[in-house]
Amino acid sequence: MTHRFILVIVCALEIAMILFVMTWPASSDESQQKYEIASPPSCKNNLGEKVFFRDVNNGQANSAAGMAKRDDTGTPIVYRFAYQHSPKPLQRFIDFHECAHHQTGDVDLPHPPRNSREHMMNESIADCIATLRIRDEINRGEDVVFRAVEQLMQDMIKIGFPAMTIESRKANILNCLQKNETADAFIDGVLTHRKLK
Ligand SMILES: [Zn+2]
Repeated sequence: MTHRFILVIVCALEIAMILFVMTWPASSDESQQKYEIASPPSCKNNLGEKVFFRDVNNGQANSAAGMAKRDDTGTPIVYRFAYQHSPKPLQRFIDFHECAHHQTGDVDLPHPPRNSREHMMNESIADCIATLRIRDEINRGEDVVFRAVEQLMQDMIKIGFPAMTIESRKANILNCLQKNETADAFIDGVLTHRKLK
C-alpha cells in the first residue's frame, strides 16, 4: 500500500469502523456462523447522488462493519465488511447508519477529530436516522431495531467499550424510536442547521 492510500483509509475511518471492524482473537473462526446478507436499502446523498453498497470480505473482521466514503472516482459508497458474520437486523442497521452519513453530508465535510463532541454528535444523528428509517420502511421495523440494538451492544461489549458509552448509544436509539417525526424531516433539520439546504 502506498502512504497516500493508507492516509486516505485513515482519514476515512469513522466511529462505525472503530465499533465494528476491530478484531478480537479469532479463536472461534472455524465454528463462526454464516448469515445471509441483507439487500441494501435505497440511498441517496444530500446532493441527490445514488449511493452504492459494496461487500468487502478480507477476512479481517469477526462481525459486520461499515464505512461511508467516496471511492477513487468520487462515487459515494457504503463499504460492507464481513456482513456474513452478523445477523440481518445488525446488517440493516449498519447499512442505514452508513447511508445516513451520506444523507447528512458528513462524507463531504471535514472529518471532526475522533471522539470529539462533534464526532459523537454525527454518530448519534446517523444512529437516529437509521432507527427512524428502519422503523418506518421495514416490516416489523420496531422489532428489527430492538434486535439490532441487542446485537450492537453485544459487539460493543466484546470490543471493550465502556459501559457508559454503550448505554448512552442504546438510550439515544430507543429515544429516536419514539420520535414523532420521519427520517426525512429529521434529515431536513440537520441539513438546514448545517446550511446544506
Ligand atoms: Zn458512523
